[in-house]
Formats: sequence, C-alpha cells, structure tokens
Amino acid sequence: MTSIAFLGLGNMGGPMAANLVKAGHSVAGFDLVPAACEAARAAGIRVAATAVEAVAGAEVIVTMLPAGRHVLAVYDEILPAAAPGALLIDCSTIDVASARAAHDKAAARGLAGLDAPVSGGVGGATAATLTFMAGGSAEAFARAEPVLARMGRKSVHCGEAGAGQAAKICNNMILGISMIGVAEAFVLAEKLGLSHQALFDVASTSSGQCWSLTTYCPVPGPVPTSPANNGYRPGFAAALMLKDLRLSQEAARSAGAATPLGAHAEAIYAAFEAAGQGGTDFSGIVEHLRGQAPEA
Ligand code: NAD
Repeated sequence: MTSIAFLGLGNMGGPMAANLVKAGHSVAGFDLVPAACEAARAAGIRVAATAVEAVAGAEVIVTMLPAGRHVLAVYDEILPAAAPGALLIDCSTIDVASARAAHDKAAARGLAGLDAPVSGGVGGATAATLTFMAGGSAEAFARAEPVLARMGRKSVHCGEAGAGQAAKICNNMILGISMIGVAEAFVLAEKLGLSHQALFDVASTSSGQCWSLTTYCPVPGPVPTSPANNGYRPGFAAALMLKDLRLSQEAARSAGAATPLGAHAEAIYAAFEAAGQGGTDFSGIVEHLRGQAPEA
C-alpha cells in the first residue's frame, strides 16, 4: 500500500483516484469544488481541507488539473510541505514549457517528477484503461509504474522532462487533423451520392483507414459505439480538442516546426467552439463542415 495524495478530483481525477483506492492504496485528495470533494469522499478518498494537508506524508503526489498555470501554482503551494523523497506525477495535459518548469520546481526541492498525461478520456479513467505517456528520469518512471498500472492499461516512457506532454500533443494533433479529414470525406461523399456505409467499407480496408474512421466514425451507422450514434455527446469534447490543438501550435511556434494542417485544424475547432459547440464531441465537426459554404 502506498500513501498517495491526489490533487484535482474532476471528471478525470475523481475516477482515477477512486481506482487507486480500489487497488488498496491510501488516498488523500483535494479539489477546490465541493461537489468533486463529495463524490471523492463517497468513493473512499480521504478528503483534506487543503492541498498542503493532502500531501502531508504522501509518498506519491498526483495532480490532474486543467492547465499549466494551475499545476505550477499548486506545486508552489505544496512543494514546501511534500515529504522528503516524494514522487510527483502530473497527469494533466499542459504545455511543454510548464511541464519542464514543474520538473525544475520539484528538482529544486530534491524531488523527482514525471509528466504523465493520459489518453483514454473519462471512460478510460473510470475503467482504469488509460494510456500514460511519461517524461522524466528512468528511475522516476520505474517508481511511478506500479501506481500508473492501477489507473491505466499501458504506460510509455517517452523520454526526459516534458516528453510525455510532447507525445500527447503530437498524438492529438494527428487526431484533430485526421478527424477533420474523415469528416470532410463523408461530407463530400454525401454530395456525390455515395452512402456512408459504402465509403466506410472501402476506406476502412484501404489506405484511408485510421482511428477516426474505424473506431470513432463521425457519422452514425458504420461504428455503432461512436458518439455520432448518440447525438455527439462526449466522449472527447471539442473544447478539449481545441485546448490540445492550441498547445501543439504553441509548441510548434516555440520549437520552430511547420505544422500548417495543425494550425488549420485549430482554426476549424475554434470556429466550432465559437458556434457554441465546445461541449459537443469533437467528431461532431462533421455537422459543422456540412453547414459550411464550399471554399471558392
Ligand atoms: P475537470 O475540470 O473536470 O477537473 C479539473 C479539476 O481541477 C477541477 O475539479 C478543479 O476544481 C480542480 N482544480 C483546479 N485548480 C485546483 C487547485 N488549485 N487545487 C485543487 N484542485 C483544483 O477537468 P478534467 O476533464 O478532469 O481534465 C483534467 C486534465 O486532464 C486536463 O488537463 C485535461 O486536458 C486532461 N484530459 C482530459 C480528458 C477528458 O476527456 N476529460 C482526457 C485526457 C486528458
């Protein structure tokens, strides 16, 4: 049994912390939102009055927070109170620069850290089937693995500090671009009188095959489990896709990488959000594209 502090008990953090309790760990949690604390308490998490109280004596400190600024602020608050030798695991999706700054803050206190963002969404968090992509030392990764294994199915050590966040935003840039590509193909197929099923049957076994088509098909019918069959309820909300596309564009600018399709995907999801669809599943972009006038 490991003594674990869990900070950020929201849509993802709540079920992840609950899985650590189920695995027999002692978990102290904290969130700013009373409803999140209530749900965590019901799942067997010891809810502390402050983040500092939650980390007292913890061997592992997990954070699952909205953005880089939250992670850095929480680290400033808790690091002076962290136990000697505590391992910090940040599972939030944040910008690479903040992830590296978080590692530096921990190292300044003599503590090891890991950036370990996840793929798999709320469903994966609940079912403990997340994939973790981790950045940090091999030793920190080895220490984190048994804890990550209780919240997910797979952990990949991607490299040094920030490498986990880099892997996450690169993956999600592929996903955002490929979903738009698949959605555009269905919109064109409709105009050409080609049925959804016919396009699916061909593309899913041809060179157009990809996850956005075969697992998360953006039109109802061919893949019955995809959100398209459920009114585009998320799933993975468009606002979160936009967040990740913005992070990849920020990283591309600071690293000097050319990512023109990533930039276009960001603009398309920004327009979708501006149309009030931030809470819609990101595959709902097909409806947005269908409503667009063709480019001249
Ligand atoms: P969420 O908004 O539901 O949860 C974040 C929680 O952090 C909130 O409950 C908030 O009150 C809490 N918080 C903020 N500041 C705090 C502080 N100072 N101390 C304690 N708690 C604080 O968001 P989420 O959906 O759980 O996502 C969390 C992270 O996981 C984000 O970085 C997101 O991008 C990433 N992520 C989400 C999904 C998803 O499908 N929801 C998938 C992969 C990754």
